[in-house]
Amino acid sequence: MDPARGVVPRADVLVIDGRIAAIGRRLRAPADAAVLDLQGKLVQPGMIDTHRHMWQTVLRGIAADWTLGNYVDLMFGRFGPLFTPDDVYAGSLLGAIEAVDSGTTTVVDWSHNMRTPQHADAVVDALLDSGARARLAYGNYAEPAQDWVLRGDIDRLRSERFPTADERVTLQIALDVFTADFPERPAWTWARDRGFEITTHAGVVGRQPADLPERLRDAGLLLPSTTYVHATTFTDESYRLIAESGGTASVAAESDLHGGQGYPPTEKLRRYGIPTSLSVDTVTWFSGDMFHAMRATLAADRGLAHLRAHEQGGLVDINELRALDVLAHATIGGARSMGLQDQLGSLTPGKRADIVVLDTSSPHMTPMINPVGAAVLQASTSDVDTVVVGGRVVKRNGELLGNGFARARRLADASRDRLRAAAGEKLWREALNPSGR
Ligand SMILES: [Zn+2]
Repeated sequence: MDPARGVVPRADVLVIDGRIAAIGRRLRAPADAAVLDLQGKLVQPGMIDTHRHMWQTVLRGIAADWTLGNYVDLMFGRFGPLFTPDDVYAGSLLGAIEAVDSGTTTVVDWSHNMRTPQHADAVVDALLDSGARARLAYGNYAEPAQDWVLRGDIDRLRSERFPTADERVTLQIALDVFTADFPERPAWTWARDRGFEITTHAGVVGRQPADLPERLRDAGLLLPSTTYVHATTFTDESYRLIAESGGTASVAAESDLHGGQGYPPTEKLRRYGIPTSLSVDTVTWFSGDMFHAMRATLAADRGLAHLRAHEQGGLVDINELRALDVLAHATIGGARSMGLQDQLGSLTPGKRADIVVLDTSSPHMTPMINPVGAAVLQASTSDVDTVVVGGRVVKRNGELLGNGFARARRLADASRDRLRAAAGEKLWREALNPSGR
């Protein structure tokens, strides 16, 4: 992912004090260095997920057959209000550990169930305890943004808990706009004036204005640091404005295809030159690893191109979106979206040592011909051999180190049971087999 280097065969990676110090053949390491023998394996940058609602992890898989309408009714309307600070702690902890286990070293935890200050503190605790690099995107879908934002709990959280040691966990704000008259504008202005970077679900079909960037421009709120999540159905002018502003998009292809948020917009993003990252969204519904996110993105983009060509009686001659492109979206694209492209997203001397090693000895990785193709289209979480976050080894030989997962599993099982009891069996059954709206 470092264009100056490309794919380097048989290289060493030297890490000193949490940062990459050198990459090359036969590097000399300090005498007291720990040496990991990774011969025959693939070494890549840690992946970056720019939008995942980790508080929901304790309800993994409950939404398998949901539509977006089911999600709004059931997750936001029925289950969300039942979550206590202990539940969001358990979900965020397990979600971050799951991310690291699957080679996602950095997650933007789109935490939009901050009903009380205790919920917010619980999420910070979980992210610090997890070992992952994370950005807490503080949100609260339960109230209009103009109400909860102006109460200022995120200011309290920032002054009490940030910056964290080694800045492994950082903070931003998660704000959505639902109607064309933009009643959330005071909240956006407040966030801008206090220097909070904004991530926003935007351009979702049937739920959000297709010209949000135009409204943001008119309000002086079109900011270079904003991440537009989904970004499926904007006007051409809105895509142009995002590109011009320096904003970025987070493509949640699996989510868009299952839920109906709109078609994954990779073709539009390319056309307008909008920097792109990828995201999982929620494991209540979809896969929790970036391998699936990369595959869904690539398949959606190519599938649409084929369909269009076939409808015209023709064929696609060449695939525009390449495996290398989506690996870039999943790594350096995520770093760019977070404004951390100088720190994360590629194996480059000086950057933080967030490193993922893929084993290549399984039948589905044999024989090795195309390392990028293998990482994008063949690999899965079972191949993630070693994970390093900021120079600290958190997974080795396919096993998470420490007892963090055992604890997270206990807490998540207990949270699931508590939420089921609180929901009641009728709602639980409806969630598992939704009858429609
Ligand atoms: Zn989302």
